[in-house]
Amino acid sequence: MDKSTFISGLNRAFSQNGISRMLTREAGEKFFLMTERLITENEKYNLTAIREPEKIIYLHLVDCALLSPLIPRGVAVVDIGCGAGFPSLPLAILRDDIKITALDATAKRTAYVKETAAMLRLENLTVVTGRAEDIVAGMRESFDIAVSRAVAEMRIMSELALPFVRVGGQLLAMKGNRGKYELSDAKRAIAMLGGRGGECLDIKISAPGEVIEHTVIRVRKETKTPAGYPRAYAQISKKPL
Ligand code: SAH
Repeated sequence: MDKSTFISGLNRAFSQNGISRMLTREAGEKFFLMTERLITENEKYNLTAIREPEKIIYLHLVDCALLSPLIPRGVAVVDIGCGAGFPSLPLAILRDDIKITALDATAKRTAYVKETAAMLRLENLTVVTGRAEDIVAGMRESFDIAVSRAVAEMRIMSELALPFVRVGGQLLAMKGNRGKYELSDAKRAIAMLGGRGGECLDIKISAPGEVIEHTVIRVRKETKTPAGYPRAYAQISKKPL
């Protein structure tokens, strides 16, 4: 991959989406190294179905960058089911004011994220291996913001994520274009888990020749999650709340 072609494509994509202010020279360099590594390691780890640099720029980097304005300054964030580090790696590159914990159940994915973070010297990113419903025991009600992208439908996602969020904090769940339907199905689960309401925010990614529509479901945490949640995964998935 040619570096100057990548950097000019990246600049174009950020400016097309009105977020070029975020993209410092240093962030651009880091996105280049991260993308190069994602492409070379993908064969070994099967990290992403998106393989061409231009698609990575729009569908991974811009998509995750568009979440950044929804995250307040200086907060502690947990990324549940980070996979190859989305949205945690782009957020860690763009936001040195926040602290991010990225977790995933699969050790080869967390190993990949940890090595990438070390290569990029991202001191604001910590990586943890384990299932959300198991590891939460030591981290209940301790993050300002939980984020997740493409992990589970909203009823399940709420049970996995809301226990991590402190009262007054938020869950930001990144979704494709079915967000609205998932949210209406999950209202009851959200209320049972200490969340309030939930709103769908439209995210439009301007890409060459098309506008890709995603949603972010935002849920505010109003009261503590009752001690019985999250349940074991077999129950969460077989009988979503
Ligand atoms: N967020 C990334 C990865 C999505 S794939 C992206 O958008 O590209 C979903 C990931 O969630 C997988 O890596 C899987 O291992 C992880 N996952 C699913 N259920 C989980 C759970 N209960 N706890 C932790 N990780 C989970």
